[in-house]
Amino acid sequence: MERVTSLEDLPLRTNLQGLTPYGAPQLHVPVALNVNENTHPIPDAVARDILANLAEAIHSVNRYPDREFTALREALALYLGEGLTADNIWAANGSNEVLQQVLQAFGGPGRSLLGFAPTYSMYSILASGTDTTWIPGARDADFELSPATAVSEVTRTNPDIVFLCSPNNPTGTPLSLETIAAVYAATDGVVVVDEAYAEFAPAGTPSAVTLLPGRERLLVSRTMSKAFAFAGARVGYLAADPAVTDALRLVRLPYHLSALTQAAANAALAHSAEMLAMVDDIRGQRDRLVVELARLGYSPHRSWSNFVLFGGVADPRETFEALLAEGILIRDVGIAGHLRVTAGTENETSQFLEALGRLGRAGTPG
Ligand SMILES: *Cc1c(COP(=O)(O)O)cnc(C)c1O
Repeated sequence: MERVTSLEDLPLRTNLQGLTPYGAPQLHVPVALNVNENTHPIPDAVARDILANLAEAIHSVNRYPDREFTALREALALYLGEGLTADNIWAANGSNEVLQQVLQAFGGPGRSLLGFAPTYSMYSILASGTDTTWIPGARDADFELSPATAVSEVTRTNPDIVFLCSPNNPTGTPLSLETIAAVYAATDGVVVVDEAYAEFAPAGTPSAVTLLPGRERLLVSRTMSKAFAFAGARVGYLAADPAVTDALRLVRLPYHLSALTQAAANAALAHSAEMLAMVDDIRGQRDRLVVELARLGYSPHRSWSNFVLFGGVADPRETFEALLAEGILIRDVGIAGHLRVTAGTENETSQFLEALGRLGRAGTPG
């Protein structure tokens, strides 16, 4: 059909006019290190169990799935530990959907969402989709966020919701439990800690889940997309007071988690240890990136995630394109003089570092 209409011809909601959708390039290249996926495929033995669960579930897809995804909530509570039960758990098709449901329940027209820029690009997009006002708050030097700075931004802007990304994307920088507790104490609103990369923190680092007791407005979101190597299955989740999950039931679509999604996730969670076996490897490659990028003359930022943001790039567009020409896709996140790269397998990480090394000294074209 010939395309006769453009977006400008449609009666779009005012707050969506002129906006652009989320659009990380999806290119088929040999080395894709651009969207922080776990680049290790899931182990064969786990894949077989997932297939067996799917094969069983397919026999009942004529019926709607368990609307309360009870088995999945129990498995996620067990995975998180810390005394959580299924009543504390919510899940949806990726943590992006979880965050959208949070904004549908607690944001909306006349309400505002504070985040600390630069931060995850979906936050402002989810805000406009729910007609919530997005407030980009400030960070400290080197993209860190101290309790004092966070609290002063909360006090200055008086938001209804605060999103704290821990560790932060796209900078990789960690966030202390002190900052989270201070933000919670400074607001009457809902505080969401997005722990999409929590599993990549140093072993023994406590999760914001440990702050939940006595804090009924604190929500901790997680995803199976990153450490769990499950990005294509779309499973994100959240831990909070049971009253929060009741609020989310008001806005979710009935049966939002398909029977196949639930079956696949339950099988994967039964193999958490194998699914997470590559996390140590990935942390090792991340630390290697920080060391080698500095050796090449760039300025990598501290990272507790599975990616590294590095400065000292004379022309990010040009470096991005030069790597792409060699089949290596990384990410220009729009921060002047910076690029972001995901820690891949040892081989992928080597290919990236060698190609970057061939481009010449940091900051000099050529
Ligand atoms: C990748 C990412 C997510 C996860 O998205 P899913 O919808 O679960 O795939 C959430 N938050 C941040 C900060 C991320 O980088």
